[in-house]
Amino acid sequence: MMEPIASMISHLDSPKKIVITTHHKPDADALGSSLALMRFLVKKGHQVTVIAPSDYPVFLNWMEGNDKVLIYAQEQHEALTKITHEADVIFCLDFNSLLRIHQYGEIVSQAKGLKVMIDHHLEPDSFANYQLWDTKAAATAVLIYKFIDICEGLHLIDTCIAECLYAGIMTDTGSFRHPNTNVEVHEIVAQLIRAGINTSRIHKNIFDNNSLDKLKFLGFALSEKLIVLPQYHVAYFVINKEELEKYHSQTGDTEGLVNYALSLEGIVMACLMIERSDAVKLSFRSKEDFSVNQFARTHFEGGGHKNAAGGKSDLDLKATENKFLEVLPQYEKELINNYKIDQKSC
Ligand code: 5GP
Ligand code: MN
Repeated sequence: MMEPIASMISHLDSPKKIVITTHHKPDADALGSSLALMRFLVKKGHQVTVIAPSDYPVFLNWMEGNDKVLIYAQEQHEALTKITHEADVIFCLDFNSLLRIHQYGEIVSQAKGLKVMIDHHLEPDSFANYQLWDTKAAATAVLIYKFIDICEGLHLIDTCIAECLYAGIMTDTGSFRHPNTNVEVHEIVAQLIRAGINTSRIHKNIFDNNSLDKLKFLGFALSEKLIVLPQYHVAYFVINKEELEKYHSQTGDTEGLVNYALSLEGIVMACLMIERSDAVKLSFRSKEDFSVNQFARTHFEGGGHKNAAGGKSDLDLKATENKFLEVLPQYEKELINNYKIDQKSC
């Protein structure tokens, strides 16, 4: 039974051992939320360890506290298991199912510490004792700001905490343009700017840090790999291992690619299928009311948000593409209807 987060604040009255974890292949919201919360809790006198279940893009390395992050897949499993089992409190940020942290999920699931989920994705599993869960929150970073407020700690938000939170909000709102960009986002961001952050530098750190390989890969994908199905208002990419290797693809190099498919005129759903070493990874984006959360959940063991979701497939790349194509006719009407809504201006 999950309880609201306010009822756990008293557990933080005295110094505690705390672990913060976030989802596989953390993005700016996942890592920014984790590092902001770590810095806040350290200021409150706690002993805090951030454990990521995998590596993450180098364009996030500028965040304060990055050098302290332990990566479960790379580090000594025994040592990290010990830290996790000794924790009084385990914060789970920006995910709501232990499947999202892969092998580390087993360790967290067996740990005795209080589990606190802070998240904004749809349809959570019930693995935590306490939750701050709001699907209307634009980013988990918004919820971290609220958590700090609940702890009466807004005065402890310094430039470093504010930068990490801003990065999460900026990226999860698509630089303040997705429909999740509400009044609350702008109000919180105004407070973060008051804390002294340089917003254009954060933007540059994240978006103007591309390697030449990444840009060449983008050019290749757009010119050679984009498949458009006008009758379904769908566009997608299928990328195999050899293509990733040819462009020396690094973690994060394919992030954002699926958005180019969605940006094509007339497209309601976009998909990116990538052959990874363990499985085929899928990313989905959509416009209007077409729910890629539902689509990913129903067909590809995934989930996420209404307009941005992910999933996986244990079939090979070609069979995954065929499966995607086979289920599309079920959604034809819905895709066309959402295209019509998208065309309306008022
Ligand atoms: P992306 O396509 O950028 O990897 O992910 C889009 C959204 O879906 C993010 O909010 C991410 O956390 C979520 N997501 C990505 N992959 C998965 C997955 O395999 N399962 C679930 N439940 N969510 C995912
Ligand atoms: Mn997020």
